[in-house]
Amino acid sequence: MKTIKTVKELREYRKTFDGKGVSIGFVPTMGYLHDGHMALVDASVKANDITFVSIFVNPTQFAPNEDLESYPRDLDRDLKLCEEHGVDCVFTPDPDEMYQNQKTYVTIEDLGAHLCGKSRPTHFRGVLTVLTKLFHFTRPDRAYFGKKDVQQYFIVKKGMKDLNFDLEICPVDTVREADGLATSSRNVYLSEEERKAAPIIHQALEHGEASIVKGMKAQDLIDQITKEIESEPLAKIDYVSVVDQEDLAPVEVIDGPVLVAVAVFFGKTRLLDNFFYGE
Ligand code: AMP
Repeated sequence: MKTIKTVKELREYRKTFDGKGVSIGFVPTMGYLHDGHMALVDASVKANDITFVSIFVNPTQFAPNEDLESYPRDLDRDLKLCEEHGVDCVFTPDPDEMYQNQKTYVTIEDLGAHLCGKSRPTHFRGVLTVLTKLFHFTRPDRAYFGKKDVQQYFIVKKGMKDLNFDLEICPVDTVREADGLATSSRNVYLSEEERKAAPIIHQALEHGEASIVKGMKAQDLIDQITKEIESEPLAKIDYVSVVDQEDLAPVEVIDGPVLVAVAVFFGKTRLLDNFFYGE
């Protein structure tokens, strides 16, 4: 497995596959890899001849008050995991390699305004900007994204379609711990008590899903999920939303496919989860 830190070297390595008829898969990450990331890696290794992974804690997707400095990192362990899972190349640039007096950003209208965009208004601009760069360097046929970060998946899919990137954006189901909590690099921030309490998110979503009947008011579902999550005193809800699966706009009545998504704080740690209904 190759480990590359500079854009120049990455472009040169990528060029060695040109004209060889090999398919390229790419898994962008911020590292501190867990089973969720590795499900994306495994999907890529299975479907493509060559798999690139990037490990980069991207400063432009963090607001000044967020956890950029404290974001967990363990590059040695990450590289070992990638090697074990059959990755061909890991790109681990320093921030200076990716950004030098950056004045150009990629933004998306509307889709970034709802859900996480409300409390993180510059987040998706940072995500789309870094992915645009990474896609230029790696020129993948397929790129893999987790459904846990569902708004990111939607935005990347639409953004890359709008910009005519010639690649397939492949979604991967959310991977969970045994008690239902979605795996996340940020789970290490949770205290022992918070960690015990956090599976309430998945439980509330499962109960919510089971109680949906066609034609019900979205607000009734939101109230039910909110109440169950709030039964856990350590949980502070950022949002519980029922949105359209096409444009992520809030819906009033559940009479077609919807996405039910939540963000919940436990202490300073913000956790995401969701489910699709009526796909
Ligand atoms: P991150 O390192 O948090 O930026 O995540 C990199 C990729 O891994 C994103 O596409 C995430 O959606 C995906 N991912 C993170 N956690 C999970 C999970 N529990 N299940 C599936 N995919 C995940």
